[in-house]
Amino acid sequence: KARNLGRDCISVYRAEIKTDVKRDLEIESQIRHALGQGQFECWLQSKVVADGSVDGAEALVRWRRADGQLVRPDEFIPVAERLKLMIPIGIEMLQQVAQVIHQLEQAKVPQAIAVNVSPVEFLAPNFVESVKEIFTEESASLSLLTIEITESLLVSGEEQVQQRMEQLRLHGVTFSIDDFGTGYSNLVRLQRLPINELKIDRQFVQQAEGNPKHKALLDAMLSMAKALNMKSVAEGVETAEQADYLLAQGADYLQGFYYAKPEPCRSWLEQQLKARR
Ligand code: C2E
Ligand code: MG
Ligand code: MG
Ligand code: MG
Repeated sequence: KARNLGRDCISVYRAEIKTDVKRDLEIESQIRHALGQGQFECWLQSKVVADGSVDGAEALVRWRRADGQLVRPDEFIPVAERLKLMIPIGIEMLQQVAQVIHQLEQAKVPQAIAVNVSPVEFLAPNFVESVKEIFTEESASLSLLTIEITESLLVSGEEQVQQRMEQLRLHGVTFSIDDFGTGYSNLVRLQRLPINELKIDRQFVQQAEGNPKHKALLDAMLSMAKALNMKSVAEGVETAEQADYLLAQGADYLQGFYYAKPEPCRSWLEQQLKARR
């Protein structure tokens, strides 16, 4: 009986592996095709300051398939990361972001644009050189680029991460810790690295109202940013009450559906160029 069970388990296991591999191969070829077709689009979501005006945005990738269907990052990023295809996708994003920054500068309305960079991308052999090359090519200032990294990157690859961050900082790049509060930050390390901004995860923002412990943590993270001389960004702001509370607690930037949803970078850019003319 035990042997039967054993055999069943093995065959199920094998079948699962097979379908996973098959599925990955399918997605892999689809992503390669999508890269060749320029199907990865940079969308932008505004960041807002205390008086409600827009000051910069976060770039969020969208995959527009040939049939027009939009695929959200959560559906392809995990696979793309596993297959290292996140590296060329990230290059695509950096190129589009550099073009946006260039246009903002040309129109004399410079604003920082934040781009999400996953550990596979940040640790790719020539990441720093790629970033510099792209921004030179597009005539965009690196001082308007913010790189959002997660706490997981800080836990990995110690030396190299710090070196790369410092190299990029020398060129004016700023760093933000995304989804802050959900990872395992080494606080000693955090204050040693060239980090300009803490981006507080939306679960603290959204659950503070009903949950005194979340509220305490939210307040503590905002004070911590201040104490460490970092800016704070609250993500996932959906209501006026959340916005009021965050501003009263001294959050520097707010971002969320209450203010703006992500939109294609073209239309975001047009708004900015119109508004500041
Ligand atoms: P993230 O960087 O934490 O981005 C915030 C996510 O929350 C975005 O989802 C955004 O659309 C969504 N969001 C913004 N405001 C609100 C709100 O008020 N309420 C709610 N419920 N959600 C809100 P999205 O675009 O689906 O991206 C998901 C994640 O995928 C991002 O989380 C980021 O980790 C990753 N990602 C997105 N674009 C890129 C990229 O170009 N490169 C890399 N490496 N990762 C990316
Ligand atoms: Mg982000
Ligand atoms: Mg986030
Ligand atoms: Mg997130």
